[in-house]
Amino acid sequence: MLTLPDSKLPRVGTTIFTVMSRLAAECGAINLSQGFPDFDPPPRLVDLVVEAMRSGVNQYAPMEGAPALREAIAAKVLALYGCRVDPAAGVTVTAGATEALFCAVQAVVRPGEEVILLEPAYDSYEPAVELAGGRVVRVPLARPGFRVDWDRVRDALSPRTRLLVVNSPHNPTGAVLDDRDLDALEGLLHDSRALVLADEVYEHMVFDGRAHASVLGRPALVDRSFVVSSFGKTFHCTGWKVGYCIAPPALTAEFRKVHQFVQFAVASPMQAGLARYMAEEPGHAAALADFYQRKRDRLCALLGRTPLGFTPSAGTYFQLADYSAVSDLPDVEFARWMTRELGVATIPVSVFSAGACAERLVRFCFAKNDPTLDAAGERLARLGSNGGPT
Ligand code: PMP
Ligand code: GLN
Repeated sequence: MLTLPDSKLPRVGTTIFTVMSRLAAECGAINLSQGFPDFDPPPRLVDLVVEAMRSGVNQYAPMEGAPALREAIAAKVLALYGCRVDPAAGVTVTAGATEALFCAVQAVVRPGEEVILLEPAYDSYEPAVELAGGRVVRVPLARPGFRVDWDRVRDALSPRTRLLVVNSPHNPTGAVLDDRDLDALEGLLHDSRALVLADEVYEHMVFDGRAHASVLGRPALVDRSFVVSSFGKTFHCTGWKVGYCIAPPALTAEFRKVHQFVQFAVASPMQAGLARYMAEEPGHAAALADFYQRKRDRLCALLGRTPLGFTPSAGTYFQLADYSAVSDLPDVEFARWMTRELGVATIPVSVFSAGACAERLVRFCFAKNDPTLDAAGERLARLGSNGGPT
């Protein structure tokens, strides 16, 4: 008799992004849940990818990534953060940031070692740690504002801490780290064996004139960090699943040992197109903050006409809203109700934390054309007037 093995991830179900996008499609709701743009990548970038396919770039890319793309990444981080990385030994192209995060964890975390997550935390970190046999240690972000309480992080650090995961700009809260946070992080880790996994996929979406405080701007942190980003966010092509990981050569070597057996290599025409587009349009990323800030402001103006409470996001393409003036329902139920009854899909924020959640928060994605945001705003304006769900 065949007995199936116990699940290695017994507490994991289908991701909330899949669940809510599916529900949105079923209900014909405006989908502001899963984070993806409803507009296309720049036409020239699409042309360059098509051109690459037509000119025969259709076979396996090098395992570590196309040289031209790794060089473009190295040039970008030198220009933006003053960080000199060797494209040959310190940059790896991955199948989205998701693969990079997974490989970094598998490369360094051993059974019984601890990984500190700041909660709420993006949903892919914890399963990666569990599959590596590691133990997650959670530190809540401080309310209000979802800032990192570095004293609590210090208390959580132990000789068993292998990795500390930081995510800025932060999904789902939109909070960003600043220079003082990086000072604190640097000071804290000085005498520790812990490495850093920095998820910076929204690095080009920091608003109100602030600059992104990248781990890559701190040589002492670069020496112990995996820094992950995603072309999907930057070039409006989440479906292409192309990202990268920057790490010192010794860590990159370990990272690639995993990457070569998880993914081996990433779609070659996309890499060729992205490399050429980055060379042709070096200003694309710099224009992104203004582009998304306008969308944030548009959504916030619409939310201002509803009973929802909010503080404008400092970064990312997400906006949190507090619905406690409308309903006492737990957020998962409220998000379902909103999708079905109001026709606007969001992400309930409690799914990014392990414990019970008393907060009444949902996350809106504003990476949408203005008419999409306006149509959602019209539907949201009905909130409260019909009594809301109970
Ligand atoms: N990290 C964070 C914080 C994200 O929000 C996302 C995707 N939305 C990812 C990683 C994964 O990025 P990718 O789609 O490039 O795998
Ligand atoms: N990261 C995206 C979000 O936060 C979703 C990515 C996914 O669906 N895996 O919405």
